Amino acid sequence: MVEPVTLDFFGEFKPDACTVCGECLIHCPIIDYTIEEAKEEMRRLIVKEKTKKLLRDCQSCFTCNLYCQKQANPASLILKRWNEQYKKEGLKVRGKYFMTLYPNYPNFRSYAADKMTREEKHLLKQWSSLDPLKGDTLTYPGCNVILTPTLTQTKIFADLDIRGRLEYCCGETLFRTGYKKELFQVTKRLDKWFNTLKPKKLLVLCTAGTNVFKNVLPHYGLTYQFEKITSYIEWLWEKFEKGEIVVTKPLNMTVTIQESCYSKMFGDQYMDLPRNILRRIGCDIVEMEKSRENMRCCGIGAGFSVDSAYNSLKIRDATVKNLDDAKATGASAICVYCSGCLQQYFTAKKLYLKKTPPIYHIIELIQLAIGETPIRLVEHTAQNMFWGIMKNQMPRLLSPKRFKIPEIPEDPEEDAY
Ligand code: SF4
Ligand code: SF4
Repeated sequence: MVEPVTLDFFGEFKPDACTVCGECLIHCPIIDYTIEEAKEEMRRLIVKEKTKKLLRDCQSCFTCNLYCQKQANPASLILKRWNEQYKKEGLKVRGKYFMTLYPNYPNFRSYAADKMTREEKHLLKQWSSLDPLKGDTLTYPGCNVILTPTLTQTKIFADLDIRGRLEYCCGETLFRTGYKKELFQVTKRLDKWFNTLKPKKLLVLCTAGTNVFKNVLPHYGLTYQFEKITSYIEWLWEKFEKGEIVVTKPLNMTVTIQESCYSKMFGDQYMDLPRNILRRIGCDIVEMEKSRENMRCCGIGAGFSVDSAYNSLKIRDATVKNLDDAKATGASAICVYCSGCLQQYFTAKKLYLKKTPPIYHIIELIQLAIGETPIRLVEHTAQNMFWGIMKNQMPRLLSPKRFKIPEIPEDPEEDAY
């Protein structure tokens, strides 16, 4: 039984609690360790020796934290070591294209955003408004829904007041790559923005953002207090339960699920929700080998270590493993409930030579089940992400040059990158 985590889950590593038993690392869904190897890697991590695979291959999914019976927070120690490594060596220059908080510096998201359709750009313009909110709730799209804004074009979301822009990113990737000082700069920017719009409640259109706002950013200086932070998955399920979403065309398909990295932090009850929704709209579910708390990140996590520095080939290989697993289930479709996973799957598919089942966001499946036709532009976005990476990262993939990321100013317009 997985229970929701508390704030402490994202706190510092507790060396006094750790018995170097290795239990955390033998449950790692990414790196295969024997118990002896796991103990040895933990020992090395603690005494700051070079690890064999851990610091190179970890995807900062935090599964190891869940399995530590002593609540010693081993994943936080991995992030700490990455931070020390980054401060000493900087990041390989290929990582620069994945730094997204600087509007003046082209990156994989801004490249795709520039090439969006007129309809998508219109939505982003509306979402960036600083006009007073219509109600007491700010609906936060997060970077990933900003890149797939037509996901919100359903009658289900018609009354939501969506606000956000890439520069008001929650800092999830900075957190998962171990940057600390920079995350404090992100929260200053967010605090200023929230204090302008003054929402009482936050509805987040992804599970990752929900967890970052609830459990992570309070450790990094976010002071703005919400009465309530809700994930759109909880919100949608409530609408089904109240009879406000009515299925008119049950889907009659078998789907497998790419889990969001952060669902496990909200426990079994939360992980059941996308499954409840899928069953309600007529789907049968076949689980991938790595699912629920033992899930594997969609692939982007393979870019987070300092050694990887967002190496796109490594990221692609990680996604391919998941695509293979999804295919092996025999499901007729793959369902994701994070738009980041959606983009990651579609982008990596460009270099995946086998045929895959169709990939849908859960919102798109709901739309089909209520008789709507989703506006599917993710293929277009992924195409642009792919070519952006080809043009801007690939020429520097093997460059030994390194860089450090500049300060993130409180006001995005002051960006001097
Ligand atoms: S962090 Fe926890 S599970 Fe891992 S070695 Fe230490 S005590 Fe054991
Ligand atoms: S954070 Fe995830 S990938 Fe990294 S060691 Fe822990 S379980 Fe493995």
